[in-house]
Amino acid sequence: MVARSSPSVQIAPNGRILALSSAWFADGARRRREARQAGRCVECGLALASHRTPYCSRRCRWKFHGHYFWDSARSYTMLRDRYTCRICGRRRRARELDVDHIVEIARGGAALEYSNLQTVCRECHRSKTVAFLRSRSTDPGDAPE
Ligand SMILES: [Zn+2]
Ligand SMILES: [Zn+2]
Repeated sequence: MVARSSPSVQIAPNGRILALSSAWFADGARRRREARQAGRCVECGLALASHRTPYCSRRCRWKFHGHYFWDSARSYTMLRDRYTCRICGRRRRARELDVDHIVEIARGGAALEYSNLQTVCRECHRSKTVAFLRSRSTDPGDAPE
């Protein structure tokens, strides 16, 4: 689950990323699109041979994915889970699935670790989020900020 309200990325002293905004991830997609249109590598700015990819090389692709880990983590997690919701076990199309943090980031779960990511369908994700928010509202000591 990505915190939608917070525009910031918070990094804990141990280097763990605590909160990531959807804007942060969308930014990666926007930069790739602009780079393709401009014909320049999104990572190093070198002229591209084709407009089909925003990377000049495999190396730049990996470097950029490092910055925008979520895109690749998402695809990896869905593939690993065979596009099947890990809560209800139903197989869905990629666009009907979300990638969820098993232990919510707000509860101290790792934001960017495959072991803490699972594929879930929209409905299960919604119920899990609702249950999580409800459990938090009964525990005000755990509220963010
Ligand atoms: Zn490059
Ligand atoms: Zn489900």
